[in-house]
Amino acid sequence: MNAALSARRAGADLTTMVERGLAACELDPELLAIGLGSLPNADGVMELDASIMDGSDLNAGAVCAVQGLCPVISLARAVMEKTPHVMLSGDQARRFGISLGMEPMNLMTAANIAKYDEWKRGEADKFYVHTAEESHDTVTMLALEDLGKPHLIAASATSGLAWKQPGRVGDSPIIGAGIYADDEIGAAGATGLGEELWKASASFRTTRNMEAGMSALEACEETIRHMMRRQPESLTLPCVVFALRKDGDFGAATTKGEFPLWISRNEQVEYREYPALVL
Ligand code: ASP
Repeated sequence: MNAALSARRAGADLTTMVERGLAACELDPELLAIGLGSLPNADGVMELDASIMDGSDLNAGAVCAVQGLCPVISLARAVMEKTPHVMLSGDQARRFGISLGMEPMNLMTAANIAKYDEWKRGEADKFYVHTAEESHDTVTMLALEDLGKPHLIAASATSGLAWKQPGRVGDSPIIGAGIYADDEIGAAGATGLGEELWKASASFRTTRNMEAGMSALEACEETIRHMMRRQPESLTLPCVVFALRKDGDFGAATTKGEFPLWISRNEQVEYREYPALVL
């Protein structure tokens, strides 16, 4: 948040502000959630996903299962701005990043190697763990400016579920699942158990709910209640959507746990927690 705000103060446009905010999180080795030093796949290799969407023209860019490059939010932005495509994956996304001058880097730190070894010792026969709260995380940002007319950007970066099957991709880089933005309506983002959020098209559904006239909170709650009712697996790990309407109204909802949301408006940063919904 601080990196995004300082970029804005220095005159960055909305896309750059969001990119800088997420890039700072990805490059922070202390942050277990995403990028450098987060939790790897079942082979002990970091595979990163990211996406960005511009609500003005619905242009979007994403990358998935990228190894050895960081920050991948910048790569997603380059896919949006420098190619006619929406997503590049794996080795070819990495090759594209290197062609743009990104330096290959080792994303494993002593701390995450130790966590991986611990997991390997305890759960060596399991590919997929989605019970521990620590086993998942993502940072997603929604940004709105109104310089005569509303403009929104949504963006997300993640290392996905910890200890995931190599090659597995979750909701975060999927437009409509992990993020969505439309200047005529608002924007939405998701975090949590990616398979379930993807099946629900969670961000698109939430945006469509706002288009139908719901407040941001109602829009999120409708998506989450629908998931809780139709997708029992969504109760096993938090599945969260949060939304920002083009008039600044915002909200969030989760299937489980408490969802922490940081909101910055006119330099004031506010923190809110959204408790799990009850069906
Ligand atoms: N949604 C991410 C994924 O499934 C993980 C998370 O948000 O915790 O890859």
